[in-house]
Amino acid sequence: MARPGVLISDLDGTLLGDPAALGRFAAVMASWPGRPRLVYATGRTARSVWYEVDHGGLPPPDAIITDVGTAIAGSDREPWPEWPTVRATWDVTMVRAALLDLPALALQPEVAQTPWKVSYHAPGMDRAALLRAARTLRRAGIRGRLIYSSCRDLDVLPRGVGKGPAARYVLARWGIEPGDAVTAGDTGNDRDLLRTGGVGIVVGNAHPELAALRSRAGNRIIRVTSGHADGVLEGLSLVAPGWS
Ligand SMILES: [Mg+2]
Repeated sequence: MARPGVLISDLDGTLLGDPAALGRFAAVMASWPGRPRLVYATGRTARSVWYEVDHGGLPPPDAIITDVGTAIAGSDREPWPEWPTVRATWDVTMVRAALLDLPALALQPEVAQTPWKVSYHAPGMDRAALLRAARTLRRAGIRGRLIYSSCRDLDVLPRGVGKGPAARYVLARWGIEPGDAVTAGDTGNDRDLLRTGGVGIVVGNAHPELAALRSRAGNRIIRVTSGHADGVLEGLSLVAPGWS
């Protein structure tokens, strides 16, 4: 890749988590002429992201993908109302009702719930438990997808929605080829994001749940040794030598 057009990065555990590294990342972004466009893709709310931009040293982004990919906003902080583009029936009360009887699922606080996602604390779910939850949704006629992260958080989203689909939507709106995008992440909810661009950077402190992610045609997975924002910088230096 001669010149990445966009960097789409997760926040918690990736750009956030090591303030000194974030400072180095922000300095590179501020002094890099013609730097890639910057997009954050996170489970956080938009409000919480803008707080980190205003008070936490996070460089101003060109767009943000929030709430696990169920919302997008531009640099003017206005939401993109057309996203998600799902037109199928999606009713979070149906999702909650369908999953009510599953053991070990506890709804996260209301602030984490949106009309597009139902978020649970679900520590230690194994593959069988996830399959059971997926089957339960299917039997209730719900076209949803389960995203399990950090061996703890379970998000239920409509099919076709998530960090990866939202990232592809942003790229399409900007007219940028997915191959010109670099992504970065640290846990399971970054899996489809890391699959989206030409290169996916798995930071050094990544959760073992990303260990099975391998490069494939058109999508190179890079595992770096540095953690957090330093890992993103390390990945960028490998992708585009001399660029950071
Ligand atoms: Mg993360």
